[in-house]
Amino acid sequence: MSTSKSDAGQNQVCVIVGGSHAAAQLATSLRQKGWTGPIRMISDEGRLPYQRPPLSKAFLAGETEADSLSIRPATFYAKHGIECISNKVIAINRGNKTLTLADGSRQRYHKLALCTGTRVMRLQIPGRELDGVHDLRSLADVEGIRRDLPRTRRAVIIGGGYIGLETAASLRKHGIEVVVLERAERVLQRVTAPAVSAFYQRIHGEAGAVIHTDIAATAIEGQERVERVVCADGTSYPADMVIVGIGVTPNSELAEAAGLETNNGILVDEFCQTQDTDIVAAGDCANQWEPCSGEWRRLESVPNAMEQAKTAAGTLCGERSPQTSLPWFWSDQYDLKLQIAGLSQGYDQVVIRGHADTGRSFAAFYFKEGQLIAADCVNRSPEFMMAKTLLSQKRTLDPVRLADDSIAVKQLMSELPRSG
Ligand code: NAP
Repeated sequence: MSTSKSDAGQNQVCVIVGGSHAAAQLATSLRQKGWTGPIRMISDEGRLPYQRPPLSKAFLAGETEADSLSIRPATFYAKHGIECISNKVIAINRGNKTLTLADGSRQRYHKLALCTGTRVMRLQIPGRELDGVHDLRSLADVEGIRRDLPRTRRAVIIGGGYIGLETAASLRKHGIEVVVLERAERVLQRVTAPAVSAFYQRIHGEAGAVIHTDIAATAIEGQERVERVVCADGTSYPADMVIVGIGVTPNSELAEAAGLETNNGILVDEFCQTQDTDIVAAGDCANQWEPCSGEWRRLESVPNAMEQAKTAAGTLCGERSPQTSLPWFWSDQYDLKLQIAGLSQGYDQVVIRGHADTGRSFAAFYFKEGQLIAADCVNRSPEFMMAKTLLSQKRTLDPVRLADDSIAVKQLMSELPRSG
């Protein structure tokens, strides 16, 4: 029986595991879609859900404080009957629909939402446990880094992904000498074209951050506190602080132990449903089937978490509305706003609009077999908006005209044949 907006969740308990962006949105969306039963959100972070994107940016740079990071104030959850429980779920018992918590207590559920997120990959080298070595994933991590800042003159960042580069930019704002060690041939290799990687390498160099690529850290050395990072090529880099940002892995063990299918995350369909019709998953932990491409897709991004949470809430309320939103991302470094639309994996052509090698504003458009599939836009909001429109409508542009920066975005759009 399908559930209408008026009777969704009547006398039914929905438990949300996790306190992430996805969890907060899912709880909110359940109420918006008419879920009337109790909603319980269980998180072991000891805080209300907070925004993660500012952690490596404004919060690390000291431009904002922890209080301002909460996604919603406590009064919001109280007003909407969303109970926030500080505890850790250690088992899902699907047979009798209960959860076992770390303190031995149990929680009953009728519907369950898994928003368990990801955890950082651990760097497996000696010295990892020394004082002054930090991960950067949670608010607690960055509070630890901020406490260490007054004694930090030199920092080494291991990993040149978004965490590594955003952290480098934030530490430069504190006047700290920064060295980034990236084991791949170029920074952001996993997600961007070579021209975009080269752009960020140049920008960081101009800001005084030193980036070494193709280099492997083999040990962190020091007495009690970190003093240096040693690399396989024999070089070493003095450091009062080390920050590790080498990627994340999905928290899917709870689901797996409960017999749910997992593979690089918790497997869900386009409605965010697992193979158990009473259990959904959303956010970085969910690996979603995408019928259009015929591929599984696990995205690590806030916009995706929000969209999946809305879809998952709808599914719990009896809607059958698949998630079809376009993936998008952003990154702030120095005065640069990078906005990314679509997914560039598998591209066979890149068109650069503007001057990636000299300026501070350009866009890279990715094509596959003549079709636009993604765009990286640096300080280029009009191009980002254009890319989102084109990608959403599955339309494309002539790469030659697109590369001509003297032709305005408005003009390019006006040249498109009418759709439909
Ligand atoms: P990431 O994007 O996966 O980048 C990690 C980088 O570290 C990769 O380039 C990786 O190279 C490199 N690496 C791995 N092991 C290394 C080692 N032992 N020594 C040196 N380099 C090593 O992960 P992240 O930067 O940690 O970010 C974590 C997640 O948060 C990602 O999903 C990221 O997209 C997300 N995030 C997003 C934003 C944003 O959208 N603005 C901001 C922050 C974080 P290989 O490719 O060779 O492994």
